Amino acid sequence: MRLSLTDKCNLRCTYCMPAEGLEWLSKQAVMTGDEIVRLVRIGVNALGVRELRLTGGEPLVRADLVDIIAGIRADHPDLPISMTTNGVGLDKKAAALKAAGLTRINVSLDSLHEETFTKLTRRPFLDRVLAGVDAAWAAGLGPVKLNAVLMRGINDAESPDLLAWALDRGYELRFIEQMPLDADHGWTRRNMITAAEIRELLSRDFVLGPDPRERDGAPAERFEVRRRDTATGVASGPVLGTVGIIASVTEPFCSDCRRTRITAEGKIMSCLFSREEFDLLGLLREGATDAELAERWQDAMWVKPKAHGMDHTGLGAADFVQPDRSMSAIGG
Ligand code: SAM
Ligand code: SF4
Repeated sequence: MRLSLTDKCNLRCTYCMPAEGLEWLSKQAVMTGDEIVRLVRIGVNALGVRELRLTGGEPLVRADLVDIIAGIRADHPDLPISMTTNGVGLDKKAAALKAAGLTRINVSLDSLHEETFTKLTRRPFLDRVLAGVDAAWAAGLGPVKLNAVLMRGINDAESPDLLAWALDRGYELRFIEQMPLDADHGWTRRNMITAAEIRELLSRDFVLGPDPRERDGAPAERFEVRRRDTATGVASGPVLGTVGIIASVTEPFCSDCRRTRITAEGKIMSCLFSREEFDLLGLLREGATDAELAERWQDAMWVKPKAHGMDHTGLGAADFVQPDRSMSAIGG
């Protein structure tokens, strides 16, 4: 289950949000902490949710984040609870998040160069993000995973260096193919960096081999990473760690997808690319019982699409219609 805590964010990544002018949801429209805790309880107890990821927008901008996590943890002592964050301010909150019951964390990090980071996120906060990553590790929120989106001509050439940096520190880096979920509608199939290109870019310095572990419905295909010997061109030395590639566009994994998503205003989306949403929060606020809410939720998931359609027609993808919401407003 992926649950968005807010549509607000303190960065403006070019592949997600517009530079300015995205209207926030009103405070009343967004789920309260108690409503979130109740929906998670229904998901786990009635519908078999086995893992929760908190996302947004930027979850760290919610003042009651620690209380929400503590509330969920009190109900579900063994539920894995992870969070995807841009890491800004994480250095100050990592220990409290861990104490409240957060299991692990994913931090988005597209570049280690101040200028490139600022160009991509439209905010000069690289140092704050790096401090957040270190703090998450120190607080025991590992294994720390890093998410990177590659943009042509901006940070694609940096990908092997980003991987070397992550491997050195024991972080698991995952590259996510850019998806057509940007508020600016600037995505093109022709310009996005594909998984095949990512593997090629990384092969400059590394040799990728299959990871023997079961993929088990995970969005990322994992590879074991070894150094490429510059003289011979073949793998040398031990396995240094793993890298993941999330190829939602060119190598989609829809048939294995078991995700259910709740937006910050309590709407169920059975797929990131759904154009249909089911209002769970409205029903909750009308006084519905847990059983009624579970039934609505189940109904929404029965119509989970078989596939998102982006890959159907190759470069044109003519039958794919971009959702109206940006990634930040859905909850990535
Ligand atoms: N603000 C948090 C963050 O950036 O980690 C959580 C929400 S963000 C929407 C979740 C993830 O979605 C991030 O790793 C981000 O890089 C990714 N993302 C956002 N827009 C995307 C797009 N158009 N294509 C692929 N990934 C995207
Ligand atoms: Fe904010 Fe995350 Fe979207 Fe970047 S990807 S604008 S950090 S919500």
